[in-house]
Amino acid sequence: MDVDTSWSSPRRSMGLVIILAGLATSTIVLALLYAAAQANVVIMGWYVMPYIPVGAILAGLAAGSGYAVATVLKGVKVTAVMCVAIVVLQLGCYAAAQYLDYRVANPVYQDGTPVGFLTYFDAVTRSFHSESEHGGKPGEPLGVWGYGIRALEMVGFGFGGLIGALIIRTLPYCQVCQQYMKSRKLIEIPSSVPARKIKKKDTEALAAHQAQQQAAHQKAHQTLQTLGALAGEGNHREFQRVLGELAASTKGASKLPRSVVLKMVWCRQCGKGYVRAAATDRARNKVVSSELTRWNVSPEFVGNLREFDLKRTPSGL
Ligand SMILES: [Zn+2]
Repeated sequence: MDVDTSWSSPRRSMGLVIILAGLATSTIVLALLYAAAQANVVIMGWYVMPYIPVGAILAGLAAGSGYAVATVLKGVKVTAVMCVAIVVLQLGCYAAAQYLDYRVANPVYQDGTPVGFLTYFDAVTRSFHSESEHGGKPGEPLGVWGYGIRALEMVGFGFGGLIGALIIRTLPYCQVCQQYMKSRKLIEIPSSVPARKIKKKDTEALAAHQAQQQAAHQKAHQTLQTLGALAGEGNHREFQRVLGELAASTKGASKLPRSVVLKMVWCRQCGKGYVRAAATDRARNKVVSSELTRWNVSPEFVGNLREFDLKRTPSGL
């Protein structure tokens, strides 16, 4: 038996901490759901566009928040195995809640013999009915279709619990130090001119606008090249000076059809990091961000830019 080694393994105890944190938030959420149900507010019964179990998804999200928060605090990378474990634990919690509900209801037959859990569960599931949309009497019991509602609830609660972990999975992570990295926006520079309504027949104006657009795009491209070279050299002074020069041009950049966002991402432990440039395209109500380039930077560079504030640079005033 090798009980001793597993007992002292820090990795395993971290897993345990994450599980406990998730179970704690799940317990709190299930208690709140139960309290709400006593007041006739059945949150699990909230649906939109008939079959999207919003109530179950939200409850699952809240219940699973403990896993997500503990993962970040403990610096544990979210793996596929962890995702599966979260869904399984969420479903376990859902089942436990059903059982508790049964124990509290304590159903008995007319002659006083207790009703079994599965019989009770089956009866409750079959008695599910839709709320009448016209404010009249509730609809007919769904019968065996009630299991469809159950399935939706379980999927919503199970996968709702995964949302937090999936978001964290996208966060930058330092493999060496095994922790999540910090990130901060340095600047947003324009890469286009403001959108303008031009009549199609006005070819002259269209061409002029096109030229302006091209020039703005070119300018952003050049700026990135300059900054990239400075980052490569580790010249943080000059890098900051250029950012300061750009400060005046950044006004309104976040409303342009296209801009470039520079973010610095770094590890708090080893200090290493990178500057990431991403193009942000805004067309109608859709915003799409795509990474253009990444410059690896030294801990010294990070240390100097960590406190960088565009508003406090001399030219930014
Ligand atoms: Zn690190």
